[in-house]
Amino acid sequence: MIGLLGGTFDPVHFGHLRPAIELLEALSLTEVRLVPGRLPPHRPQPRLTPARRRQLLQMAVADIPGLVVDGRELDRIGPSYTVDTLRAIRDEVGPTEPICFALGSDAFCHLMSWHQWTSLTQYAHLVILTRAGHGGGMPAALNDWVARYAVQSASVLRAEPAGRVYRQPVARLEISATSIRQLFAQGRSARGLMPDVVWNELAGSGEYGYPQVST
Ligand code: ATP
Repeated sequence: MIGLLGGTFDPVHFGHLRPAIELLEALSLTEVRLVPGRLPPHRPQPRLTPARRRQLLQMAVADIPGLVVDGRELDRIGPSYTVDTLRAIRDEVGPTEPICFALGSDAFCHLMSWHQWTSLTQYAHLVILTRAGHGGGMPAALNDWVARYAVQSASVLRAEPAGRVYRQPVARLEISATSIRQLFAQGRSARGLMPDVVWNELAGSGEYGYPQVST
């Protein structure tokens, strides 16, 4: 059973990596593939190029067993529709291997605006990464849809290739790429919010406007 975590990763940070590691262990996945999107359909375009986001992600996961980068959306021209990605991965792994597509509960709340969102479960299970004690904010119609597919036990995910929705509690670190980009723009340190190798690379290159030259 493999896991996928999509996102913009502009840049990658521990708020991505820690939930991915917890997901890997909690569901005993063979691997979690981090899947950076080239052109996110629902949000402003990333600051870093596709090639750079892929390179930083690869640096970030190099020492983390079980996490790998899947760059297929970066290689595809046009919007990064998750349904296309899941269909392609399903074709590759065959009809029986369970696939768990994970996303944060904040991202999940917007699922109904995704391209062909009701088809996602044809190809994979959906895993909502929740923060213990949180979980509200979902539109009622989405809540009703989830209720039809929700399972309480992870063993059901393993028994079927796709089609279920499962909530997995993970640590939610108070880190976002948005706040990291702001720190960089202000010439402030983002050390400790991402692997040192990524911080050193970004701080040294002046990306995101760091360091700010004061006059
Ligand atoms: P931005 O601030 O630019 O919107 P982000 O930090 O939220 O970016 P994304 O690349 O958009 O990062 O997120 C990829 C996935 O990781 C999403 O499913 C999102 O819900 C999840 N995620 C992001 N940050 C965290 C965090 N701190 N804790 C848990 N999950 C997170």
